Amino acid sequence: MLTPALIFAAMALPFGAALAQSNQEVAVQRASAQKPTDGPAQNFTGKVSVTGRFQGTAPARVGGGAVSFEAGARTAWHTHPLGQTLIVTHGVGRVQHWGGEIQEIGPGDTVWIPPGVKHWHGGSPASGMTHIAISESLDGKTVDWMEHVSDQQYGR
Ligand code: MN
Repeated sequence: MLTPALIFAAMALPFGAALAQSNQEVAVQRASAQKPTDGPAQNFTGKVSVTGRFQGTAPARVGGGAVSFEAGARTAWHTHPLGQTLIVTHGVGRVQHWGGEIQEIGPGDTVWIPPGVKHWHGGSPASGMTHIAISESLDGKTVDWMEHVSDQQYGR
């Protein structure tokens, strides 16, 4: 069964060949052909929607998508083997690395998360937030998930 969790997990797999027609052609993924998928509850708190997924074809390793968090929604703690770039497009959000302060982020802000750094990102308590997330895969993997961000850690 194609559950939202499986669809989301597929983001971490090297499935570029399935998206692109050929390595020799420009591949346009039409917005009208894309269905948003929900971030699965084991890796997210609150409502999170992913659209605009993209994946380069080998030898490229880049991939990602546009992730929208409702107010209060956030990722679980996690790391990326080769790091991650976030480009905020809408709303007001939050990002924090383990042991660091919560930082507020808004449209036009970009965030670099170094490889292996434990962190989370999401909306703010009063506002949703959308960011483009970009990461490269290492051995077919782009993320290692950990425990949820508690309400206390989130700063409720
Ligand atoms: Mn991340």
